[in-house]
Formats: sequence, structure tokens, C-alpha cells
Amino acid sequence: MAYDRSNVFARILRGELPCKRVFEDEHVLAFQDINPLAPTHVLVVPKGEYVSLDDFSATAPPEAFAAFFRAVGEIARQQGVAGSGYRVIANTGADGHQEVPHFHVHIFGGAPLGRMLKKIEAR
Ligand code: AMP
Repeated sequence: MAYDRSNVFARILRGELPCKRVFEDEHVLAFQDINPLAPTHVLVVPKGEYVSLDDFSATAPPEAFAAFFRAVGEIARQQGVAGSGYRVIANTGADGHQEVPHFHVHIFGGAPLGRMLKKIEAR
């Protein structure tokens, strides 16, 4: 899947759309989700053009990888959820229900989040 430069996170990264920024460095931008599903709900996006976790894991250079996951941990600490715990999710592709085609992870926390997934019927 080719990277679509009109996606909403690309527009935020270019400064064309506002965001509630919580962290930024050379490789990473993080901001509040516009529709929070937990007391803490932050999106962490790499500044490079990666469609998904599949794309990022296959093509990102090691320094982008390291910077991204170091930032995720640092943001969780900054948000005050590292002690109580949190959840990181990367929705990926159609079955993963990925809506925005720029790789990102969600950091959820600030309250007990329950079990990981509801059990679904086998196909
Ligand atoms: P997904 O691609 O399924 O992992 O989810 C994309 C997430 O982006 C959703 O939780 C949306 O609420 C969030 N979102 C969409 N547009 C914006 C925006 N302009 N600013 C912040 N979050 C957004």
C-alpha cells in the first residue's frame, strides 16, 4: 500500500491541522487523541512516512525504531501512567481496524482498562 500524504496525521505533522501536542523530538510526534477512550489517550506517530506497523517494521532504519519505542516509554512516564500501568495498541490494516494510514500507536491509561479483547466467535 502506497503512503497517502493527505492522511490526517501527515497533515498534523506538516502543521496544516492543529493537535494537542504532548511530546516531540527529531523522530516522533505525540498528541492527544481527538476522541479519547481512556483518561490518558495519546497517539504516538513517527515523522517518517510509514503506512502501518507492517510497513514500519519492514522498512524503518534502526534509529527510527529505537527513537520511536524509547519515546513511547518516555511519554507514558511523562503522562504519569508508567507506575499504574498502561496499554499500547497499534491497529494495523483492515482486520486491525486501522483508520488512519500513517503508523501510530495508542497509549491508553489512567484507569483499569479491563481485559485485552472481548472474546469473539471463531470464523
Ligand atoms: P486507528 O487508525 O484506528 O488506530 O485510530 C485513529 C485514531 O486517530 C482514532 O482514535 C481517532 O480518534 C484519532 N484521530 C483522528 N483524527 C484525529 C485528529 N485530528 N487529532 C487527534 N486524533 C485524531
